[in-house]
Amino acid sequence: MNDITPEDYHAYKPRPFTATERQDTTILFGGLHWRADRALEGVFENCGYRARRLPAATREDLLKGRELADIGQCCPTTFTTGNLANFLLQESARIGPEAVARDYVYLTAGACGACRFGQYHQSYELALRNLGMETFRMFLVGQDDLDQGAVQGGGLEVDTPLLLGAAWAILCTDVIRDFEYQVRPYEVEPGATDRAVAAAVEEIYEAMQARPPQGWKWGSLAWHLTTGYFVRALHRARRHFEAIEVDRLRVKPKVKITGEFYLQTAEGAPNHDIHHWLEAEGAEVYPAAVAVWFDYLIRFAGQEFEDRCGIAPYARLKFEALKLASRLLRRCYDQLRGTLKDIPHPLPYQHELRRLAAPYYDRRLSGGEGDMLIGKALWAHLRRKAHMICELSPYACMPNTMSIGAMAAALGKHPDLLYAPLEIKGDSEIHVFSRCQMILTEAKSRAQQEFDAALAKTDMTRGEAWRRLDARPEMKRALWRVPHRGAVGTAANGVLELGGGRL
Ligand code: SF4
Repeated sequence: MNDITPEDYHAYKPRPFTATERQDTTILFGGLHWRADRALEGVFENCGYRARRLPAATREDLLKGRELADIGQCCPTTFTTGNLANFLLQESARIGPEAVARDYVYLTAGACGACRFGQYHQSYELALRNLGMETFRMFLVGQDDLDQGAVQGGGLEVDTPLLLGAAWAILCTDVIRDFEYQVRPYEVEPGATDRAVAAAVEEIYEAMQARPPQGWKWGSLAWHLTTGYFVRALHRARRHFEAIEVDRLRVKPKVKITGEFYLQTAEGAPNHDIHHWLEAEGAEVYPAAVAVWFDYLIRFAGQEFEDRCGIAPYARLKFEALKLASRLLRRCYDQLRGTLKDIPHPLPYQHELRRLAAPYYDRRLSGGEGDMLIGKALWAHLRRKAHMICELSPYACMPNTMSIGAMAAALGKHPDLLYAPLEIKGDSEIHVFSRCQMILTEAKSRAQQEFDAALAKTDMTRGEAWRRLDARPEMKRALWRVPHRGAVGTAANGVLELGGGRL
């Protein structure tokens, strides 16, 4: 006789987190790169919460995630599950499990969709059960609503000021990160960029922490869209970069990072620290901005209405409203880029990514990066944004597996596209590095050929190029922007600028 009843099957429901507990309870969160996570701490504090980012995920977290949750889940879920579990275990050893359940709550993003992203919290729940910590509280934030109300118990309001603050924290740190990756490979004094970035991110953290009151839903939205507050914060952050000296005539292949959201955003064990490995191998990395994901979410929502224009009431109006939202996002992002002399890359146009991917991948397929993975690879190649694409594909990720299959057709049409699809399991770095290195060798050779072609085009020797560079000291400053003169590489564009030519 089976004595399991339907009541045994129930969704996780956290104990309430009450307003009176707010002062003594720390909200845990994580999953982005450290700059964004630090700025988000400021946003939480500004909204009256105690908050703490989880430490960067490690190999031990991967192993703990495998031990505690579903072994077949994708590797980002395994890393984040193990990351939370190990933190809770360490804290339990320090203050006891009852105190951990009382003093911390975990806030995580979620969605319902075609992939594991809709089930992260279930993995966390399984891990908590396996740890015997079922009383620990965990709350979910959706990614498609500006005002999600209070969590169970009212201790946390997932409202417009909190969510918009989080969005602007991410935009500000996106542009800093993009700038950083264009400067560090060329810095004359090793470590100068990292020190400046640490100080700049603290400026953003303090600005987020001190955000003035902006009113509620629409008032807060209007304030964020019109204020010069974040531009001023980035101006303060910019001061830290002014003294950095660079040598931009170092020939380096440009490597665009694409792939699954978590793997392309994180820096460290989840992706074998591929960003820094590539830099150490002599590349300039073009990182993936989180803002591109925001833009994609807006485009994806707009497509639903676009397909219903003339059928569903107000579909056209809603479609146009979302197009406007995308334009406003771009405008805000461009204003922030402007504070760093437009050196951070602009956002790619979503309609262009969609058009490029269309022959290979249906735009309506959700899950992971959808059609963006193919769109971004073709865009970076055809628009001469990078010598090579490094695509980070998680082990056991369904959407990425589909994209890679479709990419085979795209590569058939564009055989000169240097594409390194890397399956990331978290414990196979030799395989990943070896595969990446093969394509990187070819990318280095292209960067060198391009540099030589730029010298030939401008009738300069290398010595002459360096002499002219000495005569233009502004070009040795981190905050000087190399104009795009038809080359992909920074050094080749620098030579073309010095010689007044174009490729
Ligand atoms: S996109 Fe892939 S790796 Fe990311 S959550 Fe979904 S299934 Fe997992």
